[in-house]
Amino acid sequence: MRSFESVLAFFLIALLGCGGEPVPTVDVRLPASPPSSVLIQDVSVFEVETGTVTPNRDVLLEAALIVGIEPHGRLEGRGDTLIVDGAGATLVPGLIDMHGHIVSNSNPSWNRGSPDPEANLRAYAYAGVTTVFDPSDMSDDPWGRRARVAAGELVGPRIFTTGPLLTTPDGHPIAIIQQLAPWWISWYLEGLVAVPLPDVAAAEKQVDAIATNGADAVKIVIDAIPLEAPRMPPEIAKAVVERARSHGLRTVAHIGTTQDAREAADAGVALWVHGVYKERIPDDQIAVLAAYGIPMVATVEVFDRYARGSRGPIVPTRLERETVPADVLESFYPVPSDFEVGTLRGWLELAGETMDIRIDNVRRLREAGVTILAGSDTQSGVFPGAGLHRELGHLVRTGMTPAEAIRAATLDAAIWLADGDEPDSGIIAVGKRADLLLVEGDPTRDLDALSDLRAVFLAGMPIERTPVPGP
Ligand SMILES: [Zn+2]
Repeated sequence: MRSFESVLAFFLIALLGCGGEPVPTVDVRLPASPPSSVLIQDVSVFEVETGTVTPNRDVLLEAALIVGIEPHGRLEGRGDTLIVDGAGATLVPGLIDMHGHIVSNSNPSWNRGSPDPEANLRAYAYAGVTTVFDPSDMSDDPWGRRARVAAGELVGPRIFTTGPLLTTPDGHPIAIIQQLAPWWISWYLEGLVAVPLPDVAAAEKQVDAIATNGADAVKIVIDAIPLEAPRMPPEIAKAVVERARSHGLRTVAHIGTTQDAREAADAGVALWVHGVYKERIPDDQIAVLAAYGIPMVATVEVFDRYARGSRGPIVPTRLERETVPADVLESFYPVPSDFEVGTLRGWLELAGETMDIRIDNVRRLREAGVTILAGSDTQSGVFPGAGLHRELGHLVRTGMTPAEAIRAATLDAAIWLADGDEPDSGIIAVGKRADLLLVEGDPTRDLDALSDLRAVFLAGMPIERTPVPGP
């Protein structure tokens, strides 16, 4: 059957690193001769905390930090200061994707190639995503990649990562492999998508290993995909959270239902990395969930995309056209008639039935005081960088203003990442990281302006951005 073969081919290609023809990717690079400082002149500055825009400012960047913000004309650069014209544009803090994946491939499910992590990093940076929290990197060396970006050897967003994904035996995403891959290879592939935890001792051992490697957090899966798959028992979730805590680490959870959210919270997790997407949260449970004080990464787009993808072609956004080859964008529809999803069909149908419910869940949780964060969950159809911009559009549909949606992808995310310390990014202020976007117009009036990028600054350096070649 085609589905078995193509899915198998995808995994084998992904594992062995022997992809087919190279796919064009965006080119992003640091300036060949880096200036000692950058002066952005006469720019409007987006003030995240008040949601307002202050016009006519000069902003000075030096040594990867914002070092000056003054009314236009009051700041001067030195000899080799790079002057950037900010007139007509708004300066916004670099975006934080709170559910990004570095080692993923966004091609159609029936036609995947091998993941290209470095191209993904470039695509995030191209789109103005300057920090990624990656809650599942099963590759050999997430820690080395994180260090190479920090050292400037790779161009891309700053990485926070959990490394491997912890799940229950036969749970998500192992169950998907069991569903789609033949038995004779399934046992092997399963070990490459998640680490199963059969008991408390195994949970503690895995958390010890992840902590020793230097993870920024620990990730567990509680949700069931397909719908019949087993869920992580509460005592295992609790064991993970407590062991992680002993290493000074927080645990984050993949959830799908109200019950998942409650069990994760009762176990002590610090972040829901999906919204409740499978059902309408009962009215009396909204206050219960809000009382935990845990932020939620809504991830509306990823489920929306699976639901819409089978119904008709999806019109690409500006950033998708700039970062993804046209033939890849066109290859999502129609879905090949012989593409079999087996028992995943029930899950896909549910994702379609709950589209408006997800929006409504986020709206009601937010009204009850839950902090909503922005995350794309990069995967098939959800492109690195461009996917986060789509997610911000969904957040506006939940009732946020554009300014509030941007805050969900900047300051509020930076506060979570800082884990009780003063956030080093997420607002435009002296002393903060110079991770910035310069966008045409005013994104607080029209969110589309956020993807009309004049410049992106990574640690104070303007990056050269070249889109994928046109058709
Ligand atoms: Zn994910």
